[in-house]
Amino acid sequence: MEKNSKSALIIGAGIAGIQAAIDLGDMGIKVYLVEKQPVIGGKMAQLDKTFPTLDCSICILAPKLSECYRHPNITLYTLSEVQNIEGTSGDFSVEILKRARYVKEDVCTNCGDCATICPVRGVPNYFDANLKTMAAAYIPFPAAVPPVYIIDKNSCVYLNYGICGLCAKNCGAEAIDFTQKDEILKIDNVGCIIVAPGYSLMEDIDPLTNYGYKEYKNVVTALEFERLICASGPLEGHLKRLSDGRDPKRIAFLQCIGSRSDRDHKYCSSICCMYSSKAAMIAYEHNNDLESYVFYIDMRAGGKGFQSFLRRGKNDYNIKYIKSKISHIDINDEESPIITYEDYDTSEIKQLTVDLAVLATCIIPSKGIEKLADVLGIELNEYNFVKTNPFLPVETSAEGIFTCGCAREPMDIPRSVAEASGAAARAAEVIRGG
Ligand SMILES: Cc1cc2nc3c(=O)[nH]c(=O)nc-3n(C[C@H](O)[C@H](O)[C@H](O)COP(=O)(O)OP(=O)(O)OC[C@H]3O[C@@H](n4cnc5c(N)ncnc54)[C@H](O)[C@@H]3O)c2cc1C
Repeated sequence: MEKNSKSALIIGAGIAGIQAAIDLGDMGIKVYLVEKQPVIGGKMAQLDKTFPTLDCSICILAPKLSECYRHPNITLYTLSEVQNIEGTSGDFSVEILKRARYVKEDVCTNCGDCATICPVRGVPNYFDANLKTMAAAYIPFPAAVPPVYIIDKNSCVYLNYGICGLCAKNCGAEAIDFTQKDEILKIDNVGCIIVAPGYSLMEDIDPLTNYGYKEYKNVVTALEFERLICASGPLEGHLKRLSDGRDPKRIAFLQCIGSRSDRDHKYCSSICCMYSSKAAMIAYEHNNDLESYVFYIDMRAGGKGFQSFLRRGKNDYNIKYIKSKISHIDINDEESPIITYEDYDTSEIKQLTVDLAVLATCIIPSKGIEKLADVLGIELNEYNFVKTNPFLPVETSAEGIFTCGCAREPMDIPRSVAEASGAAARAAEVIRGG
């Protein structure tokens, strides 16, 4: 009886953490799901479509988001991070820092009146890769879960200067609460922990100056491209060059930016060959005159149906694959990127001018993973991903603490989901006693 009253704690509510939470919740185990952002879904929520089926990402994810949110056995803590744990496998006590949202979660009706009246504009929206701005009262995207607005502490005039408060005066539901404070929550009786903080991208820590990123308007990262091409993104799905608003006719997709490199990160990011081809296909569906060029070192398409996906790209979507090594990017007078590369087939140095260049930047360990590993007492591997045993791929170095998804290494969504179910099954074994 005592064993059955234990709960599970899951850190990170991307697709991996969400799947693990739903699995455990369905087994009748109480789950605490801790997410540091104001909404759940992780990177998958930001994608336009997913390879290899080209399904709309948010359409597949949204039912899982609401299932997780409404699940009677799952308690969700957003804007939250684990600060401390004590105890051992089967009986952890956990301290969580929950940051103030300044909006009452159980009262907000998601009407958006606070954002409409807010006089502060121009706050970069992280969800749209900072390509779109929003008010200080915001919700990152329309289908966000929880469907509750947030007041951005750094840009809100009331929170910084004590004046304004228009959102509170105009909120019919009286959901705005400027008195909210950050709080520490304590949870006892936690049987197991699943660590699923996912990944960050190289641009989060590196200015990518070699490739003219930020300096040249028509050089964007792959995640920015996902938002640019997405119907709910900053361009409402009409892909344009950021310098002059023209429709691009030629796009270059540059692989291995920072991955498989002695200078940056030695490992392969594993999903870029697939998502770059996917992005080129979606762009072609927007404009059938488009030519796409994928610059690659070698194609890594090791998944079910992946090779035929690439073949389809070549045959049906006007994608040209160039085996090459990129040297650098310049721009011409029209701000069009000029790619200088070594063509591996001819060993010649060549140049190609395109309208838009898209950088497949390296998948790196989640920002803050060292601190989290320290709090949990788990080891990281040589690249700072969570260390696991090859024969027990969801087990960390600490007993009772499991992992799944990109926290362990770069991987696609189906693998993240499969690992999440694996981690949930192992956690359930410990909690339920086998
Ligand atoms: C440009 C691009 C395109 C892609 N396209 C595809 C595709 O088409 N098909 C496909 O299968 N895969 C694709 N992927 C890969 C896909 O994004 C990942 O497989 C998936 O997001 C992994 O899920 P995850 O839950 O492990 O990590 P994440 O999605 O990164 O989620 C991790 C969550 O943990 C939270 N978190 C982090 N640290 C903490 C902490 N300390 N405390 C609490 N919460 C924390 C984060 O805020 C986040 O919500 C693509 C990736 C990129 C970059």
